[in-house]
Amino acid sequence: MYRLLQSLVAICLIATPLVPALEAKEETSLTIIDRLVVTGFERGRSEPVDTIVLHSVFAQGKADPYAVDEVIALFARYQVSTHYLIDREGNVYRLVGERDTSYHAGKSRMPEPDGRDGVNSFSVGIELIGGHDDVFTEAQYLSLEVLLRDIKTRHNIKHVVGHGEITPERRSDPWNFDWTRMWRWIENW
Ligand SMILES: [Zn+2]
Repeated sequence: MYRLLQSLVAICLIATPLVPALEAKEETSLTIIDRLVVTGFERGRSEPVDTIVLHSVFAQGKADPYAVDEVIALFARYQVSTHYLIDREGNVYRLVGERDTSYHAGKSRMPEPDGRDGVNSFSVGIELIGGHDDVFTEAQYLSLEVLLRDIKTRHNIKHVVGHGEITPERRSDPWNFDWTRMWRWIENW
């Protein structure tokens, strides 16, 4: 009996290091809500994905400018889209599958020395809901961090850029985004 207890204790000790790993996995679990759109993208890809483009958006002039439905209606009106949309509560919506080319960046060029045109063809777009004077919520940052890690498991991501960096003459989003915080996540990838 004593020997049996001894071997049980030994098994428990061996098993212990696995626990933190399992907990860490749970923390990074991601729930994605499908809200697939029918316009503002094209099927397939012409190039492998190596870039993530961050944006911000809100439905200006609407009763609830943060409403997901209003933002999706806005995209439909302009025949644009995004792969992912993160609302103010941190919910993550998928509008376009990563295998398809979303029209989120428009006419665009990567910063030098990269300099590639047509960023839509090799990027995944993420829109965070927020106005010009807003700061993003803690829930949005937490979801974004998990989503970036998740995307990285499927693609060899080399660049994370803001829309304003690739279309400086037209766009300045994501507005008030904490880049320092994001670079800290990326350092730990
Ligand atoms: Zn944008």
